[in-house]
Amino acid sequence: MTDLTAPIYINGSQRDPGGWIDSIDPATGKAFAKVARGTAADIDAAVAAASAAQPAWDALGPARRGELLQKLADALGANEAELARIEAQDAGKPVFEAVDDVQTAAAYFRFYGEAVDKFYNDKIPLEGGFGLTDRIPHGVTGHITPWNYPVMLLARTVAPALAMGNAVILKPAEETSLSSVYTARLATQVGFPDGVFNVVPGLGEEAGAALSGHPGIDHISFTGSREVGKLIMHASADVMRPLTLELGGKSPSVVFDDVDVELIAPKLRTALLWNNGQTCNAQSRILVSKKVHGHLLEALEAEFSKLEIAPGLEDKDLASLVSKQQYERVASYIEIGRAEGQRIVTGGRRPKHLDQGYFLEPTIFDVTDPGSRIANEEIFGPVLSVARFEDEEQAIRVANGTPFDLAAAVWTQDIDRAFRVAGQLRAGQVYVNNWSIGTGVNLPFGGIRNSGFGREKGIAALAEYSALKTTVVRVTGGVGGR
Ligand code: NAD
Repeated sequence: MTDLTAPIYINGSQRDPGGWIDSIDPATGKAFAKVARGTAADIDAAVAAASAAQPAWDALGPARRGELLQKLADALGANEAELARIEAQDAGKPVFEAVDDVQTAAAYFRFYGEAVDKFYNDKIPLEGGFGLTDRIPHGVTGHITPWNYPVMLLARTVAPALAMGNAVILKPAEETSLSSVYTARLATQVGFPDGVFNVVPGLGEEAGAALSGHPGIDHISFTGSREVGKLIMHASADVMRPLTLELGGKSPSVVFDDVDVELIAPKLRTALLWNNGQTCNAQSRILVSKKVHGHLLEALEAEFSKLEIAPGLEDKDLASLVSKQQYERVASYIEIGRAEGQRIVTGGRRPKHLDQGYFLEPTIFDVTDPGSRIANEEIFGPVLSVARFEDEEQAIRVANGTPFDLAAAVWTQDIDRAFRVAGQLRAGQVYVNNWSIGTGVNLPFGGIRNSGFGREKGIAALAEYSALKTTVVRVTGGVGGR
């Protein structure tokens, strides 16, 4: 039977905590699982275990570590159906999306497992010798993850850290910790040494704060909100430690008048509504040429209003929001949009057939004021703002006009314009005639300015989870650096 608890997992075994937190099924609003309420003492124990295990893990070498990562990818694949159902209920997403999350998580472990022993360094010729560069692990790395893609974001951050020879301590979001402990158990089963992959579930202000302020952590990776990101940055400054911050966004699509509106409308829909808009790089605003503005709104309205909404385990198009807090946040932004006088094209209410749980209709606002709050602040839910533009210069200025720079897209058939605009959109990832969520484990990803710094995904993450070390060698009588 499926285990619906997320205990503390340290040194290859689970332990019960001093207290538990109820995990709520967002489709019903009722408790369905229990999550450990980890404490500062549990973080101390995890740091001790990880510090003891890390040197031998590093010494194992990249090829052997890579083999274990690939075994974990296989184990995730073998347990895909069960893990996806846990994730669908816990995070409130349709099963087909949860299956995609588990497959992408496995793809991360496989990618870094295969890549790490090909991640070579340089030899630099010098007069009378040479320099050698080497990538060394930070040591013990801390990872704090959000609730929107629990298993996938775990893999995105933990897989490259483990591949490079770090021992990890993960603090998953308190709303969705089940799949994290599940994955750590699988790691032990496939042969990861004890103490290399530790999980301490708990509240952000307790276990999270203890992890982010711990002097025994050598690097911290945080994925979550800008507000908590700032706290993590302060805590890291106090202990002089590098960090990676993956924060939020208000990512735009810029749509020109030469597109095939009917063809791109379903893609624009998915660019927001995958995971119900609870995606850091969700396309939450569209800037569209005034010439096709009306046509695009009609096509999007048709796309949004045909979607079936149901509890995640019923596996329809859209499920619930993750929590009561998130439901209230998104509903309050819909009210802000109404109060700002922006027109609702479709949605804006709780679906009539769902009277419990945290469900909202996907909503489109036709935005006349590009300075409005709904067009500038991160809502993190199924709310799209669509605004028209007069010309290319205005489109780029408005697209670059929020404090966030995570992702952006340009849609046009004109190849010169596509590259010209892509070149001027300020974002960590830019898409041309597409929008990418989750997939593409090999594509470096991260923000600029308020969207954070550092890069996850791709080979770039192997550099992120290691420090560059240079050794200089003098060779008496040597020639040309040899
Ligand atoms: P959040 O910042 O509230 O929580 C994220 C994590 O931080 C959770 O594990 C939480 O327990 C922990 N936390 C909370 N307070 C803490 C504290 N004082 N000290 C240490 N840890 C603490 O974010 P959320 O609501 O879970 O996620 C939504 C946000 O995450 C959005 O802004 C979204 O854009 C962002 N996000 C970004 C990316 C990305 O890759 N850039 C990916 C997913 C989500």
